[in-house]
Amino acid sequence: MMTFPERLIDGYRDFLSGRLTVEQSRYRELAERGQSPQIMVIGCADSRVSPEVIFNARPGELFVVRNVANLVPPYAPDGRAHGVSAALEFGVAALKVQHIVVLGHAQCGGVQAFAKDAEPLSPGDFIGQWMSLMRPAAEKVGPRGDLSMADYVTRLEHANITNSLNNLLTFPRLRQLVENGHISIHGAYFGVATGKLSVRDPATGEFKPIAAEDYARLFAQPRF
Ligand SMILES: [Zn+2]
Repeated sequence: MMTFPERLIDGYRDFLSGRLTVEQSRYRELAERGQSPQIMVIGCADSRVSPEVIFNARPGELFVVRNVANLVPPYAPDGRAHGVSAALEFGVAALKVQHIVVLGHAQCGGVQAFAKDAEPLSPGDFIGQWMSLMRPAAEKVGPRGDLSMADYVTRLEHANITNSLNNLLTFPRLRQLVENGHISIHGAYFGVATGKLSVRDPATGEFKPIAAEDYARLFAQPRF
């Protein structure tokens, strides 16, 4: 018989004695009246960048869809199964979220695979197909030239977030809601090694640190 991972059983025990004890009435309330998160996050499947952890979210607060490299495919009503598009439709039309955040991150394996033109992992090469959605971002960044691989990958990671934001606007209904000011879309970037979060300035396209003073106060000085 397959054994359910011990790590998950232990984690669930901690959840029972910790979070569920604190949040039980909230879970009951959410079950009765349904979820109504105001924020949708499109993030990477990477195990280090859980949006609920980074934003300290409680149950019911974030509507999250994660995939390899936080990609949003362009609007394509072609009758095929589109996971991200279905989640977007649900978030926008049913939940009526007010914000959509594309959350990218440093050391993204998907972006690195694209940058290094890595060998396919499987004959089906799902990742290669999927990562080809990054091509417009790579074209905007241009050739690597003299950039170090690390700097080039960071630029690609940033451009990839912008590309996903652009693709959000190919969904006609969403575009209308954004133009009418009913939904705001945002790009954010999490530094895995540092824990720093930066947010894309829509005017300049630059990523600027947020809560930088808190970060400096807590982490910039050596702590003894
Ligand atoms: Zn990633």
